[in-house]
Amino acid sequence: MSDAEFEFLPEPAASVPRTVADFLGADGAIARRLPDYERRPQQLQMAQAIERALQGKQHLIAEAGTGVGKSFAYLLPAVLHADTHQGEGPVIVSTRTIALQEQLEHKDLPFLHAVLPFEWSSVTAVGRSHYVCLRRMHLAEREQTLFADPERKDQLRGIVQWSLTTREGTRMDLPAPVQPEVWEEVQAEHGNCLHRACKHYDHCHWQRARRRMATAQVLIVNHSLYMADLALRLAGASLLPDHRVVIFDEAHHLERVATESIGLRLSARMVGWHLRRLHGGRHDRSLLRNHGSSRALLLWEELRQQNDAFFAMLEDRLGGSGEGQAIGDEKLDEPLSQPLLELAQDVVAAATRVEEVDARMELNARGSGLQGLANVVRSLCTPGGHGIPLVRWVEGHKHGPILCGAPLDVRATLREHLFGAGRTCILTSATLGPADDTGFSWFRGQLGIERADTLRVGSPFDYRRVCELVVEEAMPDPTRDAQAFGRAVGERTLQHVLQNGGRALLLCTSWAMVRELAAALHLPLHEAGIELLVQGQLPIAQLLARKRAVPTSVLIGTDSLWEGIDVRGDALTLVVVTKLPFANPSHPLTKARMQAITDDGGDPFLEWSLPEAILKFRQGFGRLIRSQQDRGKVVVMDPRVRTKRYGMRFLASLPFGDEDG
Ligand code: SF4
Repeated sequence: MSDAEFEFLPEPAASVPRTVADFLGADGAIARRLPDYERRPQQLQMAQAIERALQGKQHLIAEAGTGVGKSFAYLLPAVLHADTHQGEGPVIVSTRTIALQEQLEHKDLPFLHAVLPFEWSSVTAVGRSHYVCLRRMHLAEREQTLFADPERKDQLRGIVQWSLTTREGTRMDLPAPVQPEVWEEVQAEHGNCLHRACKHYDHCHWQRARRRMATAQVLIVNHSLYMADLALRLAGASLLPDHRVVIFDEAHHLERVATESIGLRLSARMVGWHLRRLHGGRHDRSLLRNHGSSRALLLWEELRQQNDAFFAMLEDRLGGSGEGQAIGDEKLDEPLSQPLLELAQDVVAAATRVEEVDARMELNARGSGLQGLANVVRSLCTPGGHGIPLVRWVEGHKHGPILCGAPLDVRATLREHLFGAGRTCILTSATLGPADDTGFSWFRGQLGIERADTLRVGSPFDYRRVCELVVEEAMPDPTRDAQAFGRAVGERTLQHVLQNGGRALLLCTSWAMVRELAAALHLPLHEAGIELLVQGQLPIAQLLARKRAVPTSVLIGTDSLWEGIDVRGDALTLVVVTKLPFANPSHPLTKARMQAITDDGGDPFLEWSLPEAILKFRQGFGRLIRSQQDRGKVVVMDPRVRTKRYGMRFLASLPFGDEDG
């Protein structure tokens, strides 16, 4: 909401209100300040439920359909609670992405600051590496030979100029993106900070952000940062201030983010990155040549060769399988961790011989990076090497194989360090599971939440009036004849898209399907003058900008287009769900988790695959109607919604039968 969208009216003389109803009700401060205020009972209902949960120190799971105005519904009670519970640490609000953090920071929080009749503070926090380190930046600037490439030199000069005026000092604040190698030379780093001994301390953006974080009443973070903090707390450290309340938006991502944060990944590029930061690569600078021993240079060369050999072995093991290869309990012979540790020792020893403080800091940081990397290698190659049991596998990637490890189960960790750690947690999203799972038992089971209040508020949109649902007739079953299904999807999708004059989003469940459908549509759409936008051609943000700029265009893609994208108006009046979005059951982590359910006497299809797929189906459906003005059609191509017993659960999950909607 920009300033232009609301009017600043004089404050009423009435006594200071302190409940969400006082602000969100028909005569509340928000209604009075918004000339086109639309009363949304669902929003008030949600805000009051959060207010009650915070007062009663009860976890709350709250699903709120599209258009409820979720962010105000949680921000308002968050601010009121923070105001009345000063000294208890910030109320933390965690969003799924930095983009959503920015939306709260630039749109919703300024409005609330303007409307609420008392002073309060809010801070948006991102990870340390997103901040510029002024000391490292000036060090890089002084090193005339750091980059031979003129483009990188220019980018470094641009960062120095920008640093004179930037308020936040974060990478997101840069006027134009810079190459990763350039940012790495100027970013703030763990273990590479002089703290109060730094001459830039008083102006340091990262230190300022830390101070503001420590005193903020409302702290906006993202799930990755929150879970990185949680992973650090397992080791007795922390990133974020202690707090008693956390609100998770898009909470259905928490389990995945927790799994990634507690898990490990290792690739040849990661090892190469650590090596390049010492010597070689695109930098002219070589810390090793300038400060290291001849033994260190030999170790570096050995590691470079062993890195290639180790990942070539993993590539062979993968044998072209895109699904990933489980490692099971096998111990992998690895030639990396020992020379990494020896090189780390050498680099740290070199640091003690260097008098110049900046070079000493760089060497120490590189040394501890190598030690950390050696630990990752050992944890991934040794069964039980990570402290908690990991499911380990190798998966293919366009840049080479990745060795991965993830906890089989994050529930115990989350229970101990989050839900049972004396905090009140509010978990919200537009979709938190199948609509017929009234107590959110699937969602609670995923995260290990034993007790929580629950709330489900429907969307204020009248779906029966604004949205047509078409389940395509007489389609081949994709599990019986995938080729015939693929052909039929191509033909029927083309008909719908042409009838609709483009303006479509086509949701696929695999990259192979994206390619097949794009190939089938490319020529006929070109002849009809309809632009086809295919995920992978451009970054998602650019694809969406193009979709909005050319409303008749058709966007086709997989996973990341099923949720979180917002295209309003006549640029999107048709959504085609090509296939029910069941997760790939052959992925090693999926297999291991399904096996664990079977071992416990459960049914992995009913308890895991189906609820996940229904949740994603609801999200895909939710791409169509984004505002009161939107109209359109959702076409489902997969015949299993009719022919399988479970199919009805997909259709029943849609908001047509919702009394509220
Ligand atoms: S205080 Fe630390 S992060 Fe800040 S400029 Fe100095 S060294 Fe860099």
